[in-house]
Parts: sequence; structure tokens; C-alpha cells
Amino acid sequence: MYRTHTNGELRIGDTGKEVVLSGWVQSGRDFGGLTFVDLRDRYGITQLVFSMDENPELCSLARTLGREYVVRVTGIVRERSNKNPNRATGDIEIDVREMTILNASKTPPFTIENESDGGDDIRMKYRYLDIRRDPVKENIIFRSKCGIETRKYLDGQGFIEIETPFLIKSTPEGARDFVVPSRMNPGQFYALPQSPQTFKQLLMVAGMDKYFQIVKCFRDEDLRADRQPEFTQIDCEMAFITREDILNTFEGLTKHLFKSLLDVELGDFPRMSYDEALEKFGSDKPDLRFDMQFTYLTDIAKGRDFSVFDTAETIVGICAQGQADNMSNKDIKTLTEWMQRPQIGAKGVIYVKFEHDGTIRSSVGKFFDDAALLEWKARFGAQDGDVLFVLAGETEKTRKQLSELRLEMGRRMGLMKPGEFKPLWVLDFPLLEWDEEAQRFFAMHHPFTSPKKEYVDQMKSGDFETLKRLKADAYDLVINGNEIGGGSIRIHDRDLQSKNFDLLGFTKEEAQEQFGFLMGAFEFGAPPHGGIAFGFDRLCAVMNNQTSIRDFIAFPKNNQGRDVMIDAPSKIDDAQLDELHLRLKG
Ligand code: ASP
Repeated sequence: MYRTHTNGELRIGDTGKEVVLSGWVQSGRDFGGLTFVDLRDRYGITQLVFSMDENPELCSLARTLGREYVVRVTGIVRERSNKNPNRATGDIEIDVREMTILNASKTPPFTIENESDGGDDIRMKYRYLDIRRDPVKENIIFRSKCGIETRKYLDGQGFIEIETPFLIKSTPEGARDFVVPSRMNPGQFYALPQSPQTFKQLLMVAGMDKYFQIVKCFRDEDLRADRQPEFTQIDCEMAFITREDILNTFEGLTKHLFKSLLDVELGDFPRMSYDEALEKFGSDKPDLRFDMQFTYLTDIAKGRDFSVFDTAETIVGICAQGQADNMSNKDIKTLTEWMQRPQIGAKGVIYVKFEHDGTIRSSVGKFFDDAALLEWKARFGAQDGDVLFVLAGETEKTRKQLSELRLEMGRRMGLMKPGEFKPLWVLDFPLLEWDEEAQRFFAMHHPFTSPKKEYVDQMKSGDFETLKRLKADAYDLVINGNEIGGGSIRIHDRDLQSKNFDLLGFTKEEAQEQFGFLMGAFEFGAPPHGGIAFGFDRLCAVMNNQTSIRDFIAFPKNNQGRDVMIDAPSKIDDAQLDELHLRLKG
């Protein structure tokens, strides 16, 4: 027998019992005649004691144990004289009578502690050791629970879990596909799904009514810190529903997950249109843990010979409440430089400081007298002690830059409180996005998204400007400034779908070649339908106030898309290449 209990289980009430424990050696300490060993497993740590006086042989053996050795011990539970209140098993220890070394271990390349001395690369290379650490282990356990609660909730709502294939034909979601060569079909390739989008729609045509899947998706994108080439979605689709049904169902799921996993009650989720989000926060995923909404000065700040303003499409700012004392000129200078980095690209930042004694200091004093700046103050609803930051330029760019500044100020001012959760539905996204470089429209969500009903006619016959303004029946769930999920009501009419492909620049033949199967299905009684997908890794990270999804994935890839543990991707040999018809024969 390897164990009667786990290492997280024994309490003072177990005193006197003979127990068997197995686990890894976390650490050992020798004190004169006594040796203490901390034994660890997934459930916790239990202290073992060996006595030189009572059992010199066993105690000597204990002194040979290295970190991460795997051992089994038999012993008697006894009360500790020196209790450890920080540990669940801290009231007891095991007086060891027998021990077997089940396996030795090399010294691990980094410490298996909550705060490890190992850098990212080394921890990824030895991910199996990294997972022994509490923070990573807890994340993986949380993820498991989150998946189980998701299944429970959706099952309770009548959803059916259906697997869809991984070896498919490309589904455009705006990223590149990973492709897999077909040995049996020379020169042909499967694509790994960027999402099960077309399949879940076909399942609606098939009458499955409510589908879900916790599913891997694959996107060959350039990786940023919070992206992975393979990631997981909670993917759903429903038939005979309106947007309202979807929002309610998935608001319900989100509330259930927060309640069951974190004991957090989320109130009803506010809603905001895409246009409003951009106007007030410069972002389609605003962090609502703090307000700091945009205030526009475009109508009152022109005509004072300040060319930056006079030539600007938009003049807009934020008010950092109570920051006049906290922000020295040097701070403002560093902040401006931060805004001028190429990642953000602001030309400059104009500030107005309203000191507590009524003095006004600003970077535009040459052009604006106190009376003018007091007009700004009133517009912002600012108080003495506040600082205004104002940007000017082309509307879209300027809003985006100011959004970055808003977030930075939110961080600096400690307004993004961990443990506080502010969900938001963002609605009515544009249907099409014009790409100047490619000189064509792209689907903002994906090509299967329906325009809102009132825009269908304009979509069928509108001119270029009208097309740019079409609104989609698409929605995103945002929590604390993170996009948690997105979805849409779909087109279920063959002709409208065909029109959409047309607008997206597909020829009839291309559309038929790539999506004939879907449009064909629409001719066999496709019900009205719609759906949504949550980024599962991201949801787990946000629920735990963490910024990286990587530590919620057992075996993630690094920023170069590599798995450094198994060393993938890697070369394959010529025979394999030949078999896959991938080698040019000379
Ligand atoms: N397939 C979409 C996505 O991956 C989600 C959806 O429209 O349901 O973003």
C-alpha cells in the first residue's frame, strides 16, 4: 500500500493513528538528534520526524534524502509542539517508523516553491516540475473545476456536448490556419479549426438546437503575451433564439461560474453599444472598474492659434482625479514619453493641473488663459487637485491612444482593484471593416455574422459609405477590460450569405468552393440561429486576477510558438516527407 492518507489530510484529531504517506521531499532539516522532512503531494505538505536516538538507521537514511526524492513512510501521527498555523496539517507531524525510497531525484533546476528562482524558459523546459509548484498547480485545478461547472450549467440548460472534427477545411476567423498534409490525398491539406464555427451552424441545421463544446482552437498568429497558437473555447450555438436569449444564457453561465468557483455574486451585466464604448472609453473592451470617461473639447478648444488643436479632427481628454499633488512635472514628462513610444504613438500629451490653491498650470498656457481653462474644468467636471490630460488628432487614433493613457492612469492610481469584477456586454459591432491596404472589406466578427434586421436592406443595396456603417447582430462579453467572449446571430439565408461573401471580395466560384457545403445546407431548412464562444483560458486567468493565460495551460507554447519541453516544432525525416508528398523530387 502506498498511502492511507494524502499529505494534506491529517489533523489533530488523527493523533495516535498509524498512517502510510507517499510523496515528494520538499525539504529536510537536521536539528541535533532530530531530522525533519516535509513531504509534499498535490494535496499539501506533512512534516515527518526521524529520531537519531530511537532509530539511528532510519534517521541516517532520512539524512541522505535529496529534494524531490519520492518516498513512502509509515508512522504515527502525533501533536506538534511547534505548530505551524500557515499549514492545514500544521498541528501534527509523523513519527516515522519505516521508510522506502521509491525513486531518487536529480536536484531540480529551480526551487519548487511558490516563489521560484527559475526563469520562464527553464520552468517551461521542466514544466512537469513547474506544475509541482502551488501557483501553477492551483491554476490547473481551477481550470478543471471551471470546465466541470460549465458542463453542469449548460447541461442544466439543455445543451448537448458534441465533438466536431479537428481535421477540416479552413474556416476563416481572420487568422492563418495551421495545416496538416494528407498522406492519402497527395498535394492536399487539412486545416486545423480556428473554431468549430461552420460545424456548429451545421448542427443547428441538423436540429440539435443547443450545442456546446469545450474545444481546442488553432490560430497561426504572431504571438503576444496573452495569446497561444492553440487555446480553448467554451463554444456554443442555439437555434430559434434572439440575441436576448444568448445574452441571458451566457450571462447566466458567467454568474454561475463566479458564484460556484469564487463565491462572487455578479449583478446584472450592463450593456453598451460599440459606438458608445469607443466614444466614452476609446476601446471596444473598456475596463469598467473605474470611470474616467472621455470628455471632448473639439467644439471649444479650436481657434486659438494652437495648430495642434486647430488641425485636429478630435480633441479629447481624461481627468485624473486628485493627481495634482502626485504628479510632478517630471512624472508628466515620463508619462508623455511613455505615450510617445511607437507602440502608442501619441505626438504629445497636453496637461492642465488644477492646484489646490486655485493656481492653474498647463502646457498650453501660451494659448489658453485661465478663463478658457476654467471652461475646460467645467466641461470635465474637474475639481481643484485634479489633472487633465488632453490629446488631439485623428478621431480613431486619438481615442485609441487616450484609452491607453486611461488604463495607465487607472493602474497608477490603483483603480484596477484585484478581486473586483466588472462585466459588460458590448453590442452592435460594425458588420464590415474596410482595409485601406488590401482595398477590401473584412468581416469584423466573421463572415457568418448577420447584420441587424434593420440593416438587411442596406446591406443588399447600399453604397460604400452605407456598407461601412452597417451594424452586425454581434456581441462581446468583456470583464475588467478583457474580451472574454464574442458571438453573433448568424445569417441563415442562402442568398444573404452569398451576398456577404460577395461584399467580402469572394468570387461566386471561391465562395462556392470554400463554403458551398454551408450554403447548400441553408437550402435544407436552416433555422434562425446564433451563438457565442468564451475564451476558456482567458476566463480562468481573469477570474484569478492574472494577466497571462499561459499559467492556466498545463503545457503552453512560448512566444515563438515553441514547446521547449518536447522541442516542437521539429524537423521530420525524408521518408516521412516523401510519404506526405512534401519533398520536391529533383
Ligand atoms: N467562432 C467565433 C469565435 O471564435 C465565436 C462565435 O461567433 O460563436 O470568435
